[in-house]
Amino acid sequence: MKAAKQNQILKYILIGCAAVILILSVVLCVTAVKNKDLKSGGNAASEALVSAAQERESLEAARASEAESFRNQLNEQSSAFADEKNALNQTIADLNKQISMKHAAETATGAPKPTSPNPMAPGEYPDWSNKTIYLTFDDGPSPRTPEVLKILKDNGVKATFFVTHLNGKSSHYMKDIVAEGHTIALHSYTHNYDKIYASEEAYFADLQQISDLVYNETGVRTNLMRFPGGGSNTVSKFNPGIMTRLTQMVTDKGYVYFDWNVVSGDANRGGATAQQIINNCRKVPKKSDAVIVLMHDAADKRTTVEALPEVIAYYKAAGCKFAAITASTPPAHQRVVN
Ligand SMILES: [Zn+2]
Repeated sequence: MKAAKQNQILKYILIGCAAVILILSVVLCVTAVKNKDLKSGGNAASEALVSAAQERESLEAARASEAESFRNQLNEQSSAFADEKNALNQTIADLNKQISMKHAAETATGAPKPTSPNPMAPGEYPDWSNKTIYLTFDDGPSPRTPEVLKILKDNGVKATFFVTHLNGKSSHYMKDIVAEGHTIALHSYTHNYDKIYASEEAYFADLQQISDLVYNETGVRTNLMRFPGGGSNTVSKFNPGIMTRLTQMVTDKGYVYFDWNVVSGDANRGGATAQQIINNCRKVPKKSDAVIVLMHDAADKRTTVEALPEVIAYYKAAGCKFAAITASTPPAHQRVVN
């Protein structure tokens, strides 16, 4: 009995232990399951954080790349603008070079008619401040005399007119020449070489005729004169020695004759362009302080009138003075060759 009871007790104890074990097992299982869930939940959160960080990194990288690309684009544009600027500067330099080459070519050939009366730059002129320019006009008066007088007046320049009767209808301009303060002087009545150089008598008869005409037109009796063809002429060679005799005779009779030391070239065979006249007038003898320039006043001497303003401007820019010839002006005599 006692044994049976003990077995019974043992049986309860065993059942109790089993129950306890079972409960513990269940508790352990539940705990384990709970722990596992927590752990897995933690992992998920961590993964989300990593993913967010990665996403941010990737966005930042994209932004940086975009900025870099924009910077490159700006640099390219800036470089393109710089290239364009260099190309334009080169074009401007080329054009300036072409302009200066064209200008140099024009100056060298004297091709275009100068539009300004003073196309040279300061410093390109000689210093002729010790020289006096005596502009002389032979063979007038002519229909061009008023044009010549106007240019002289506009420029405040006095000149000298060695007059003739070649244009009888223009003789009345003689008084304008005198009225405007220029010197009127004798050249020839007929300007006919064969006639005037045929003999001394023929020469002085012609000289008296022009002297009287000037006196009648102006009231001036002048002893200033110039031989047709100049004192050194060879057109009189058909009468050997006539110029040697005449140059002495005119002096003995109280005349003062003038030649020249600058030739404008306006009486050259075939004529001269205005530019040629301008160039010729710049060929001034270095040693002469008295510069006597030979020009002509005649209907066909249009280019003389065209050239005159620039001839005057050049002499002025070179510092020259201007004067009309008087009896005391150095006469620029040339060597008598007949
Ligand atoms: Zn003449």
